[in-house]
Amino acid sequence: MTSNRSHGAGHSGHGAPHGERNPKAASGAPAAQPAAAPAESGFAGLGLSDRLLRALAECGYRTPTPIQTQAIPQLVDGRDLLGIAQTGTGKTAAFALPTLDFLADERAPLRPREVRCLVLVPTRELASQVHDSFRDYGKYHTELRFAVVFGGVGIGAQQKALSRGVDVLVATPGRLLDLMSQRSVELRDVEVFVLDEADRMLDMGFIRDVRKIIDCLPKDRQSLLFSATMPPEVVKLTQTILVDPLRVEVTPPAKTADKIDQCVYLVEKAEKRELLAKLLEDGKMFRTLVFTRTKHGADRVVRSLKAAGFAAAAIHGNKAQGARERALAAFKDGQVPVLVATDIAARGIDVDDISHVVNFDLPNVPETYVHRIGRTARAGREGVAFSFCDAEEREYLRDIEKLIRRSIPIVPEHPFRSRVPVSAAKAPAKPPAAERPAGPPKRNTPRRGRGRARARRGS
Ligand code: AMP
Repeated sequence: MTSNRSHGAGHSGHGAPHGERNPKAASGAPAAQPAAAPAESGFAGLGLSDRLLRALAECGYRTPTPIQTQAIPQLVDGRDLLGIAQTGTGKTAAFALPTLDFLADERAPLRPREVRCLVLVPTRELASQVHDSFRDYGKYHTELRFAVVFGGVGIGAQQKALSRGVDVLVATPGRLLDLMSQRSVELRDVEVFVLDEADRMLDMGFIRDVRKIIDCLPKDRQSLLFSATMPPEVVKLTQTILVDPLRVEVTPPAKTADKIDQCVYLVEKAEKRELLAKLLEDGKMFRTLVFTRTKHGADRVVRSLKAAGFAAAAIHGNKAQGARERALAAFKDGQVPVLVATDIAARGIDVDDISHVVNFDLPNVPETYVHRIGRTARAGREGVAFSFCDAEEREYLRDIEKLIRRSIPIVPEHPFRSRVPVSAAKAPAKPPAAERPAGPPKRNTPRRGRGRARARRGS
């Protein structure tokens, strides 16, 4: 059974006039309508349709961002992608543009509750943004239907929007599972699957839900995974869902800002908290961002600082949105001079005059060190970065120094100095190989191609 594709109330279609079709999509012939896109568009060589080029021109996009230049031509060919990129890099257009053309080119009447492209995102804010982007870029793909679903709002309108099938569904995992359990949506015909901000999914505790959803997808599909960092769980996920992916990384290790005064404290692990309190005593650290590896670690540091009489707050994925916002506001306006964060949570922190960054735990991915300390010395100001290195972390320190091509001065005298001599430090267990971005996974299934699900069902 198939449905009539005309737009109607209930789905979350875009606002462009109904019925407009791009002849190119249907026949391969040059588009007569809309008018040809500006010839000078930097997007012209990427293999996108004229109607997309026109929509992009209207969005004011002239030049593709690096992730767009690298990813789009290969995505147009149906390749899987691992995008190591964060918000702000243009990653949404990188996956939305080729997907829109593909969905239009391979059109067939939608089945009730069918989804052709599923985009999973961790938060409702991101869901709305991605949905808006699809509508903006797809304003001339008027035959396509888009919908967005997330929790915290009534489910009825979402069920209705899905009832006639959609070409693109942007969803948060929890609400999607609810809709699946009510049989309001059907994923067996998904041709393109996008997992956005995979590391944040992990941080917010959604990874199990994500796996449940992936289990309901057909094997034969194109898959794209985006993540700003590559913790081991995310690497595992890439190995299960991507086949021979193109790997694009657009957070190149920035050079360590010259203006940052860096030093390292070799310290006993158990005494790091006391060392931090001691450093805070001198009063120069008026706005300090402290990085810990784990959420529990962040909470422990805050508790010990409070016990020592310092105002401090933690910000990480276990905190409710409201608590995060309050902590951030208090940090920004100076009420709380110390903010303790995990790497992922810190990404959303946009505070310019951070006086000090403290690496309470050294990161085992050296690029993370560069990103962390780059939070200080912004806008040409001077900044200071202290790193606490226990005996187990010394190999991480060597990796960092290799990356930044300089050694970080060791603070010679302090009360909590490590009792393990520099040369005798035991190497830590090799950092999870998985922490490092994976190479191409071994392929144990034949190359998958988009559109097979559709071909299989004979439409
Ligand atoms: P994203 O990383 O997808 O969240 O995109 C970040 C911002 O960059 C969004 O506001 C986009 O609208 C904008 N953007 C994406 N690609 C381009 C481009 N090629 N030219 C100008 N702006 C862009």
